Amino acid sequence: MSRRRLKVDDEADRWRFRCPAGHRNWEATNNHFFCQSCSRSQDPDHDPVFHELRDLQTGELIDRDELVLDGYEDTLRHLGRTADD
Ligand SMILES: [Zn+2]
Repeated sequence: MSRRRLKVDDEADRWRFRCPAGHRNWEATNNHFFCQSCSRSQDPDHDPVFHELRDLQTGELIDRDELVLDGYEDTLRHLGRTADD
């Protein structure tokens, strides 16, 4: 029921929540995530666009819809404002 809260700029959360391949340098977008390391990887199993983050503490994959990303909404508002100018 309750969505998980994750601070996108928090080091501890960055260590805990990874892309499915285990990288830390993912970016959130509106409805999915994007991993910079996967995008540079030649491995076809590493899809840079994905919809679930891996929680290293539990091993679970958590869907984008189940996560509240602290810091992300602010970034969006800021981007929206500048993009409209
Ligand atoms: Zn990755």
